[in-house]
Amino acid sequence: MGSFGNSCGAAQAPNLTGFEWLMHGFGFRDSQYPDGITGVRQIHSGIVATAAEVRNGFVREADALVTDEHGVTVGIRTADCVPVLIADPVTRSVAAIHAGWRGSAKNIAANAVSELVTRYGARAEDLHAAIGPAIGGCCYEVGPEVARRFGAWIPEYGRAESPVKIDLGRVNRMQLEAAGVRDVWNSGECTNCNPERYFSFRREREKAGRMTAFIGRRS
Ligand SMILES: [Zn+2]
Repeated sequence: MGSFGNSCGAAQAPNLTGFEWLMHGFGFRDSQYPDGITGVRQIHSGIVATAAEVRNGFVREADALVTDEHGVTVGIRTADCVPVLIADPVTRSVAAIHAGWRGSAKNIAANAVSELVTRYGARAEDLHAAIGPAIGGCCYEVGPEVARRFGAWIPEYGRAESPVKIDLGRVNRMQLEAAGVRDVWNSGECTNCNPERYFSFRREREKAGRMTAFIGRRS
């Protein structure tokens, strides 16, 4: 796996490992997670919420969480959808994003970047983003009406006229870069192709568990 190493029972993104103030990971099937991860009911939206809004009951549904609080870890759960983690070493704000095709069509990764910028004063060019394991362009076939939603980022998808395999990790990379993020790492691992490591909704349907991708500022 090269630099995509394993520590704390979850995979580490090489571009997020160097920050001593940060904890993060992309879970495997059998990962043990740190206690107290703040999560939210995910609805395939473009909604970004703060950890405090969820904790205080002001927000019950969202698909991305942000925080800059000490000792608060935010997480999202996936089984094929794209998990994205973002860290800002300047403001020490972070984001965890659940991006399936619906959330990606709503540009949720860019929404989360905007939230880090407007709420915490981050600059997009300072951010480090990591795209975790998700169903890959090898396996994820969608109808042309879905593919065409991504034509703004990947023009060939905009021209689809029949079912086509799309790479949502690549879409999210393009969206993050268009939002001004310079450092984007993409795992590229396919959840459907790696049953020993990952749950996959496409493969396991209702029996599929979920992996958690988490990120937070150490206390
Ligand atoms: Zn695959």
